Amino acid sequence: MGSFLIAIDGPAGSGKSTIARLLAEKLGFNHLDTGAMYRAVSIYLHSKGFKPGDDLHDVLESIEIEYIDGQIYLNGKKVQEEDIRSAKAGQLASSFATLPEVRNKLTQLQRKICEKGNFVVEGRDIGTVVLPHAQVKIFLTASFEERVKRRLKELKQKGIELSFEEVAKQIEERDQRDSSRDLAPLRPAEDAVIIDTTCKSIAQVLEEALEVVNRRKTDEAVRC
Ligand code: C5P
Repeated sequence: MGSFLIAIDGPAGSGKSTIARLLAEKLGFNHLDTGAMYRAVSIYLHSKGFKPGDDLHDVLESIEIEYIDGQIYLNGKKVQEEDIRSAKAGQLASSFATLPEVRNKLTQLQRKICEKGNFVVEGRDIGTVVLPHAQVKIFLTASFEERVKRRLKELKQKGIELSFEEVAKQIEERDQRDSSRDLAPLRPAEDAVIIDTTCKSIAQVLEEALEVVNRRKTDEAVRC
C-alpha cells in the first residue's frame, strides 16, 4: 500500500505547526515541517554571504538535506529549533522561497521524503504543488489579529518582548510576500478543507482535523 499523506497549509500564525505535530502524534504518522527546511537553507545561504538574486546554482548543489527520525539535517548537521525560529530567519526564508531554484530543490526533496511512509506535511504549497495527490488537504486560517496575538504570545514565552504593531508588520510583510509570489503562492488547493481556527482551542481544531482525516479514510475504505 502507498503512503497516506496529509497536507496542512496556511499562513504564519494559523496554527499549522501545532496541529500538524499533534495530528502526526495522534495518527502515528511522520511529521515534516517544510518551513523548517526553507528556514534552514535560507540561513545557510545568508551565512555564506548569498542574497536572493545571486547565482545560487553551485551552492545549492553543495547543500545536502536529509530527514532522519523526524529530524532535518543540513550537510550532516542537525537543524536546531533555536537557530531557525527567529523573525529574521522567517523573513530570510520568505525571500529565498520566492526563487525557483530554491523551490525546485526543496520540492523534489520533500516529495522523495514522503515516499517513505505516512506523513503529515506542513507548509504553504503542499496541497497545491508538492503533494497534489495527498489524500487529505487541510488549509488553516485565522483572523489577522488572532495570528498576531498568537505570535506575540509565542515570542513572550521565549522572553522576547515586541509590540503588537511590530509583530503585525512582520506578519503582514510575510503574508504579502508568500501570497503574491509567482511560484507556488500561498492559497488553498481546490479540494482542501478550510478550517478557520480563530477563537478555537487547539483541542477543537485537532478534533476537526481528525474528523476530516477519518471521513477521508472511510471514503477510501468504501471505494476499495
Ligand atoms: O512555516 P514557516 O513560517 O516556518 O515558513 C517560513 C517561510 O518559508 C514562509 O514564510 C514561506 O515563505 C516559506 N515556505 C514556503 N513553502 C513552504 C513552507 C515555507 O514558501 N512549503
